[in-house]
Amino acid sequence: MSTVAFVGLGNMGLPMAINLLHKGFKVRAFDLITEATEALAEKGATACHSAVAAATGADVVVSMLPAGKHTRALYLGDGDSKGLLQTVSEDTLLIDCSTIDAATAKEVSLQAEEQGFDFVDAPVSGGTAGAAAGTLTFICGGNVGAVDRARPILEAMGRNIFHAGGPGSGQLAKICNNMLLSVLMVGTSEALSMGIDNGLDPKVLSDIMKASSGGNWTLEKYNPCPGVMPDVPASKDYQGGFMVDLMVKDLGLSQETALKSLSSTPMGALARALFVAHARKGNGRRDFSSIFEQFNDKKA
Ligand code: NAD
Repeated sequence: MSTVAFVGLGNMGLPMAINLLHKGFKVRAFDLITEATEALAEKGATACHSAVAAATGADVVVSMLPAGKHTRALYLGDGDSKGLLQTVSEDTLLIDCSTIDAATAKEVSLQAEEQGFDFVDAPVSGGTAGAAAGTLTFICGGNVGAVDRARPILEAMGRNIFHAGGPGSGQLAKICNNMLLSVLMVGTSEALSMGIDNGLDPKVLSDIMKASSGGNWTLEKYNPCPGVMPDVPASKDYQGGFMVDLMVKDLGLSQETALKSLSSTPMGALARALFVAHARKGNGRRDFSSIFEQFNDKKA
């Protein structure tokens, strides 16, 4: 069984790395926050004092970091500190699961490839619940050989592994999906709110729309109106789930991409503005379905 260096043990990385341990992989752990590294060591990983130390002697590196600048620094280096491309053996498989801008993902991936490494950008969908349950969806970009090599590692942490295309394609596919998700969540919220304002029962209206041409994932699995569905963030005061701040980040990435490719994304731009306004009202750490409150300030 291969040895995996796991870099970035936050809300997502820690449960993902725990699943690797459960599946029998040896894990070498590093996070800038010592407590996070120690939390994984308590589950059986080897605690390391730097990313380079973790990656040295590992067969695979998996990173789960906040943004593009962190991924770039880890692999390409930053100022005086060397990156993994300069320090680890080129037969090490490199997998970045962070959600970052596609341009950085492509640049890091192409540099890695030039130096003889297999590199995969593999952002995830499924949130912290999917990370804990080992049911994440991985959306991969990279060459076929690299993605095939990554599959057994990703399968230990997730259920669906997609190959979207060449370097950076995983990031592109992920932000297309999240842009659409944000638009569906806003549209569902305004339709439900208009129904409620006019005396309709949101449960009945949800059932009608779910079975009609307005049906969509948010109505099926993630209704934003409190009390309509059990066990979704809307019915738990919008705790858990996918934070507004992360949706704002993803919508920023989709708008940057649209600008570069001259793609017309008016719905994505509007959704971004609405989610930013919502975050500014102190909702950044609540689930993104709380956008419903921007349309319906009365209890349904
Ligand atoms: P997080 O902030 O909880 O964790 C990031 C971790 O990376 C932190 O523990 C931080 O200390 C560590 N870190 C930062 N720079 C580092 C470095 N140079 N070396 C080592 N460790 C470093 O974030 P998260 O929620 O775990 O998200 C991670 C990534 O996954 C993000 O790109 C996010 O967009 C994406 N994502 C998150 C979710 C979610 O629901 N949380 C869902 C899908 C995708």
